[in-house]
Amino acid sequence: MTVLFRNLTIEGSLVYRFPLHTRDQPTVVRHNTDAAARQYETGVLARLVAMGGRATGQVVLGALSRVSRPIFLVPSSSDENAGAIPVNVQASRPAGAPVYSNDRGDRFLQNGRPVIGTGGGSPVVVLFNPHDLQVGDRRHRRTVVGGSAEEVLLHELVHAYRMGCGTMTSAPGPRFGGEVFGNDDEFLAILVANIFSSESGSTALRGSHGGGMWRGALGAAVSLMMDAALPFGADARTLSQRFAEEYRNRLVPLRTSEAALFAGLARINAHFNPVRDLAAPR
Ligand SMILES: [Zn+2]
Repeated sequence: MTVLFRNLTIEGSLVYRFPLHTRDQPTVVRHNTDAAARQYETGVLARLVAMGGRATGQVVLGALSRVSRPIFLVPSSSDENAGAIPVNVQASRPAGAPVYSNDRGDRFLQNGRPVIGTGGGSPVVVLFNPHDLQVGDRRHRRTVVGGSAEEVLLHELVHAYRMGCGTMTSAPGPRFGGEVFGNDDEFLAILVANIFSSESGSTALRGSHGGGMWRGALGAAVSLMMDAALPFGADARTLSQRFAEEYRNRLVPLRTSEAALFAGLARINAHFNPVRDLAAPR
């Protein structure tokens, strides 16, 4: 076990499998040897250090340090994905808020009754292996857009932060043209990870979540959207400025509910930073 700060722990001794159903808990599939557990913890620690080497990573780690609930990073039996799972689903949602079972807005039911958030924050288990997410066959492996180990870790830690604070809403997104980010929490996690990626100069930004999970590079997704919205001619605005305007309805509420996080993000020097480019409140 490696304790990073008060509430963030890397625990490599047990390997977990993703729950089959949404909102179930991960199950233990095997024990790691001491050597394998140490290797896992060293690997995750290295990724956290790399993540914290960028301003966006520092903002997210700073946000996590303010969470009162414990967060555990544990090995996953699957290298295909990573995920943050609240130990107490209800406590991970604001008091009185609906708990959704999918991004279509279906309610999560227990004994036939819709489950309601209680707030206060939940302990979180993050299933994460310290590798890049890759696709393709053996000879044509490539890391997916937004799929470097640090990007994936940052994405999951944004989820963990919201669950730990009891502010995760996972509210379904509006279905306007080009809306491919899924629920509000996926939108937020992808947004923050894209700022993180662009901070290093990367222009390969993630443009979707869900069905075609890794299908999009953001440039293409937003261009399509903007092409539909604008008649002709050159658009002098940057991708970041266009995104800030196009997604204003999702960004403005988050700026209010995540004021400290957004204040930190707004100061980050990155070519893609819609938090910075979001116009002042009006
Ligand atoms: Zn996610």
